[in-house]
Amino acid sequence: MRRRQFLHQAGAAAAVAAPLAAAFAQAPGPMGDKPAIKITDIKTFLVGTAGGREGGEPEQNEDGTYSIASIGTRNWLYVKVETDQGINGIGEAYSVGPDEATVKVIEDFKYWLVGQDPRNIQYLFDLMYNTTRFPGGAVVNAAISGIEHALWDVAGKAAGLPVWALLGGRVRDKIRAYQSIGGGTPRQAGENAKELIGRFGYTAVKMQPSASDYQTAPYNDVTRTAGERVGAVREAVGPDVDIAVDIHAKFFEVQRAIRIAHEIEPHRPFWLEEPVRPENFDVMKKLADHVNIPLASGECNYMKYEFKPLIDSQALDIVQPDICVCGGMLEMKKIAAMAEAQYMMVAPHNPMSPLATAINVHFAASTPNFLILEYRAPVSGAAKEVLRVPPRRWRRNPSFREDGSVGFI
Ligand SMILES: [Mg+2]
Repeated sequence: MRRRQFLHQAGAAAAVAAPLAAAFAQAPGPMGDKPAIKITDIKTFLVGTAGGREGGEPEQNEDGTYSIASIGTRNWLYVKVETDQGINGIGEAYSVGPDEATVKVIEDFKYWLVGQDPRNIQYLFDLMYNTTRFPGGAVVNAAISGIEHALWDVAGKAAGLPVWALLGGRVRDKIRAYQSIGGGTPRQAGENAKELIGRFGYTAVKMQPSASDYQTAPYNDVTRTAGERVGAVREAVGPDVDIAVDIHAKFFEVQRAIRIAHEIEPHRPFWLEEPVRPENFDVMKKLADHVNIPLASGECNYMKYEFKPLIDSQALDIVQPDICVCGGMLEMKKIAAMAEAQYMMVAPHNPMSPLATAINVHFAASTPNFLILEYRAPVSGAAKEVLRVPPRRWRRNPSFREDGSVGFI
């Protein structure tokens, strides 16, 4: 039974609901008689970024898909919520891998959402999350997130206000951002960092500890080269630029992360990111007890329920939810509030398209414990040409280590 039907039929509840209905008279929703705005359709746009990348055509697989190695980036999945008032909202779902499955989940949610007032965002989130019954994985949570952004977009346009104004107003006028530097050698990494800082004015950059396969290389080799790489970047950028180091969840063993941390610690890193896999929260606490670098993690986790043990353990200094998969804007605000209560900062994971960056800006503008936003300047390729790139299929392919075992990607 739909909630509105229940309220109308429950006589005992009617007396209690009446004052509430009056209060909602100016903005009818589930508690009112009739929505002033109705969702009429939800559309998806699965956009491959291969065609917009510099360097020519990507390598095509036998089945017609494209490999991540040749594309170097991923699908962008946009969600458009249309309404009967001509106000449309747009959002972005994370590219979790089986992106066509995310498209199907979004289409399934239409059954619950079409006909609803798009401004009742928490109510519609509950419809999607609760009706899924089992806690969603990455596919379901990416679908919810993309739809949720679009609902905020509609709500803001309907109110004639930017979304940050609906989220408690802004607490800052500028959003600090950083970019990853790449680089095949320590010297190249340092030169890349200097070039980016000089061109865009960054005060922080991020880097990987090694350009090689550090899942199978000898421990000492990886540890030593990590120190050399971070040291080279420190020397190139000077003493005051922040340098974050991202293990990218490729380590399974906490001792490897501890060794790397000790090696790079003299170069004063900003933080050490995803130093171990994200499934085991107890291990992160063990790591925190042995490391003198701020720890950051969270891009592979979603919903406040998964962040609770991470935050409660105080293993992290910085949480990194991704607004395109963690549940959306409101869920990320809740995660941020939980972190704030433990004196932790939020540095949103943000590798998706320029639309995701725009959504993150509204979060950052309105969140007190926001620290810094991941960013990639859209100077070329798909990020710059996003509106002109034709849809193209893409599939995440496995990564094999040198010894033949399946690696973490
Ligand atoms: Mg990362």
